[in-house]
Amino acid sequence: MNKFSEFSYTRPDYKQVKENLLKYRYKILNATSYEDIRQSWLSMKEVMQYLEYIEEIAFIRYLCGMSDEFYKEEVRIQNIEDPQIVVLQNECDKLLLNSSYIDHFRLEFGDKIVNHLSNNVMLSNTQTVSLQAEESQLRSEYMSLLSAKQRTEGFSDKIYDILNKLIKVRTEIARTLEYKNYIEMAYKIHGRFDYGEKEIASFRSQLHKLITPACNELRKSNTIKYPDTIIKDTNELITVIKDMFSDLSTESGYYMNYIFEHELFDIADRPNKRQNYFCCCMLPYIKLPFIIGSFHGNGLEVNSLIHELGHGYAFYTAARSQKLYEYHRATTSVNEIHSKTMEHFAYPYLDRLLGNQKNIYIRNHLFHSFDNLPYRCAIDEFEHAIYDDINLSRTQRCELWAEIENKYMPWRTNDLESIKQGTYWPNQSHLFTHPFYYIEYNVAQVSVFEFYERSKHNWNQAWKDYANLCKTGGSKNYLNLLKVGNLSNPFSQDIVTKICKPVLDELFSLM
Ligand SMILES: [Zn+2]
Repeated sequence: MNKFSEFSYTRPDYKQVKENLLKYRYKILNATSYEDIRQSWLSMKEVMQYLEYIEEIAFIRYLCGMSDEFYKEEVRIQNIEDPQIVVLQNECDKLLLNSSYIDHFRLEFGDKIVNHLSNNVMLSNTQTVSLQAEESQLRSEYMSLLSAKQRTEGFSDKIYDILNKLIKVRTEIARTLEYKNYIEMAYKIHGRFDYGEKEIASFRSQLHKLITPACNELRKSNTIKYPDTIIKDTNELITVIKDMFSDLSTESGYYMNYIFEHELFDIADRPNKRQNYFCCCMLPYIKLPFIIGSFHGNGLEVNSLIHELGHGYAFYTAARSQKLYEYHRATTSVNEIHSKTMEHFAYPYLDRLLGNQKNIYIRNHLFHSFDNLPYRCAIDEFEHAIYDDINLSRTQRCELWAEIENKYMPWRTNDLESIKQGTYWPNQSHLFTHPFYYIEYNVAQVSVFEFYERSKHNWNQAWKDYANLCKTGGSKNYLNLLKVGNLSNPFSQDIVTKICKPVLDELFSLM
């Protein structure tokens, strides 16, 4: 295999892809045995994975700001072609679900895939096509408003108008699909099959009880910042991290070797590259990730890089253990356990990167892990409230946010004038682009702390449980995945305190 820069790219032959999908749709429809339908469906999936692989190469180069105009155009074409392809894929899935072989299929591949496909089919109902287009149009408007450099007059009104319209259109989609409201639909979008609003509400209140007063106390000390690294060169940084992964386990060593040898990362700064942006792209077909970021010599960037490499490691191992592509990744509440736990596994290796600033880094890392929790709870509670009563006025929404903010983050002072003017609501991108998604980071964080505590007492066991969880990918529902990692259910009574308290004590001792 070549280096990523040598991977060849030609625009996919979309016409051919569609013809292939139509061929498999026909075969699935007319299958006369389980073997037949299984093979046709898997072949259809292969077409999709190869397409995604090729498209991802262009998308990565676009994100990295390389040959800007060329890849920008490729991504534009993808956005036009992909929805039609997805419709054909969904038709194949629907035929499989409605076939007489579905029980046999379930027996072979598990309940999870059947739930997943049914959920997708339900959510992609063609009745809502025009509403979905409207939603996506509003999202793009929001994104382009954000990237417009100077925030001109009326910016606040424009943004609010988008939010208001999004709330209405999403609710309309949900009702068309016969959900009670958008909240119920959002839980399905996020694949929450084994927990619901009740669990999330009690989870938020557990966090509120323990974390809000703790953060209020911690915030009294001076603001803590990530220290600079002693290493400034990107190649040197990658070499140190490669050594770390080799030391963690044989498997993670192999993984990092792939990344290193095929240059499946780009952390150099470039004019056309998005700033302060780290992400992990997954390349199906070759089953390897690609890491994007920009490194200037700060501890926060090291943390982000290790985080993304954690996502990549999980994908790498799951893709090698799970037959179905749908199982190569899980939901955010689990994927974030993979990435954030890796940040903690890196602690013993930080000397080479941070020298005597290592403890300051750790203190800061722990502080932010806690300090983010109340804000995410607040956003989640706000989202539930605005989608529960979609007819709140602009002022009511502002008052609502002020009230929720006071509850979770009493250290913030509300700006009464802004409330009166109707500009006091959180301008948080998740509200616009990924509603109800933010809280999953908190859900994952509790399991991350559980792994971290375990690693202090029994490193080998912690790594073994972690590696098993990664390898299992998304092949099971959330609660069953927790069992694979020997993790507690964060929604159980008092579990938040039980898990978080020791880590919190450690943090207080470092202040
Ligand atoms: Zn992540």
